[in-house]
Amino acid sequence: MRIVNDKPSGCCTHRGTCPMFALFDRGNQLEYWKERYCDSEFTRCARYQKMTEGETPPVQLLPSGRMLRLG
Ligand code: SF4
Repeated sequence: MRIVNDKPSGCCTHRGTCPMFALFDRGNQLEYWKERYCDSEFTRCARYQKMTEGETPPVQLLPSGRMLRLG
């Protein structure tokens, strides 16, 4: 991880296993989340924080801490 302007920068280490990343990586309107969190400030991601604490986040948990509405 790099530190740029006092903020962590780089790519999330959970990209290979995170189901939400797979969704964001499809090139749809959800790509915003990937650019905002997965490819940059991933330590701010609610999913990342839960995994760092040893928890398994719900599949629908967005990086912001809100739940993705499906359907
Ligand atoms: S959604 Fe969060 S935990 Fe998943 S890859 Fe992106 S930054 Fe990492």
